[in-house]
Amino acid sequence: MTEHRPQVVIVGAGFGGLAAAKALRKAPVDVTIVDQRNHHLFQPLLYQVATAGLSPADIATPIRAIVKDNANTTVVLDRVNGVDATTRQVTLAGGRSVRFDWLILATGAHHSYFGRDAWAEHAPGLKTLDDATAIRRKVLLALEKAETEGPGDGRQALLTFVVVGGGPTGIEMAGAIAELARRSISKDFRNITPHCSRVILIEAGERLLPTFPRALSEKARQSIEGLGVEVMLGHPVNDVAADGVSVGNRFIPTHTTIWAAGVRASPAAYWLGAECDRAGRIVVGDDLRVPGIDHVFAIGDTASCPGPGGTPLPGVAPVAKQQGRHAALSIIRALEGRTVAPFRYRDYGNLATIGRHRAVIDFGRLTMSGPGAWLLWCVAHIFFLVGFRNRFVVGASWLWNYLTFERGARLITGDAAPSA
Ligand SMILES: Cc1cc2nc3c(=O)[nH]c(=O)nc-3n(C[C@H](O)[C@H](O)[C@H](O)COP(=O)(O)OP(=O)(O)OC[C@H]3O[C@@H](n4cnc5c(N)ncnc54)[C@H](O)[C@@H]3O)c2cc1C
Repeated sequence: MTEHRPQVVIVGAGFGGLAAAKALRKAPVDVTIVDQRNHHLFQPLLYQVATAGLSPADIATPIRAIVKDNANTTVVLDRVNGVDATTRQVTLAGGRSVRFDWLILATGAHHSYFGRDAWAEHAPGLKTLDDATAIRRKVLLALEKAETEGPGDGRQALLTFVVVGGGPTGIEMAGAIAELARRSISKDFRNITPHCSRVILIEAGERLLPTFPRALSEKARQSIEGLGVEVMLGHPVNDVAADGVSVGNRFIPTHTTIWAAGVRASPAAYWLGAECDRAGRIVVGDDLRVPGIDHVFAIGDTASCPGPGGTPLPGVAPVAKQQGRHAALSIIRALEGRTVAPFRYRDYGNLATIGRHRAVIDFGRLTMSGPGAWLLWCVAHIFFLVGFRNRFVVGASWLWNYLTFERGARLITGDAAPSA
C-alpha cells in the first residue's frame, strides 16, 4: 500500500514561494509549485534591464533548475485562475486542477493605475521581463528618433523622459535613464549631447522615498538632482497621453513615460472570497493563514499582514521570503501536531540606489548614504541573486559599466525601423 503524503501546493515561485519550497524540501510532504512563468525573477534589478545595463537572463533563473535537487518537488507551468477551499482544488487556466492538503498563495502584485487603466498604454510599469524589454525599446527608440529629428519641440519631446512615482523603483529608473541618456550613450550619437535630454521624476507626495526617514529622502533628492534629474514633488499626475503628461496646469511633452507609482495585489483574495485591503491584498491572521480557512496561507505581496504597531508590512522581498519560510515551517509544525506560531518580521534594513555610486540605507537606528551605501547595496544584491552564473555575470557587468560607463545590453528588439 502506498503511503499518502500530505500535498502542499505553492502558487507563485517568486521570493515567497521559493522560500517556502526550500524550507519544505526535506519535509515528509509532496510539493507542487505552480507558476505562470518558467522562471524566478529578481525584480529589484529589473530597472537595469529596462535601462540596458543587464540582459534579461542575468536576473532570471528557470524554476526547475532552482528546485532540481528537491526530490519532493514538482513544477507545473500554468496560470491559476481559481481556488476551491472546500474541495481543496486549485484550478488552472490549462483546464486541469491540482488537489492540495495545504496551500500557500504567493502570487505577488502588479502595477496599478488607480483606476485609470487607459494610462497603461502610454506609461508602462515595470514588473516582468517583458515590461523591462518593452521600456528598454521605448527609451532606445526615442533616442534613435531624436538623432535624426531636426532641432525643435518634436526633438525635445523625444529627449524628455518622465518617471511617475518617487519610491525606490522610480528613483532607480530616473537615475539610470539619466546616466544612459546623458552619459553612457551620448558619445555614440552625433546629434545628442549629454545636456540635451531631460529626465523628470514626478511624485504626488511631499517627499521622495516616503517609507524612509526624512533625512534620507532629502539625501536621495539631492543625489538624484545631482545626476541632472528634475524632481517635481507634491504633483499628482492628472493625465497620461501618447504625446505627454499633464501635471497640475502644466503639460509636459514626452514620448516616454514610465509608471512606478502604485501596485495592486494578484486576484488571490477574489479566488477565495476573502477580505482584502484597498490594494487587494488578503488580510491574513498573525500566523499568515487566511481567516476561516486554516489550511490556506497567503504571503508576500499578495497578503496584508500587520507589523509592529499594527501597520501592514511593506511589499518587499525580505517580507515575502521570511513569510514563505514561516508558512512552510507552520505546515510542518501542524503535521507534527504542534500549534502554529505567529509570524514575526525581522527588519534588516531598507535600501535604494541612485545612479552609479550613490545609495541610501535605513537600518532603523543607523542610516547610511553615499558611495559606502552604494557598495553595500551592490554586495547585497549580488548575494541575493539566485545562481552562481547570474552573480558572476551581474558583478562583471557592473564592474565593466563602472569603469567604462558602457551599457552592454542596448538592443532594440522587435521591428525598429519605421513602417513605410
Ligand atoms: C521593479 C521592482 C523593483 C523592486 N525592488 C525591490 C527592492 O529593491 N528591494 C525589495 O526588497 N523589494 C523590491 N521589490 C519588491 C519585491 O520584488 C516584491 O516584494 C517581491 O517580489 C514579493 O515576492 P512575492 O513572492 O510575494 O511575489 P513575486 O516575487 O512577485 O512572485 C509572484 C509569482 O507568482 C506568479 N504568479 C502570479 N499570478 C499567478 C497565477 N495566477 N498563476 C500562477 N502563477 C502566478 C508570478 O509569475 C511570480 O513568479 C521590487 C519590485 C519591483 C516590481
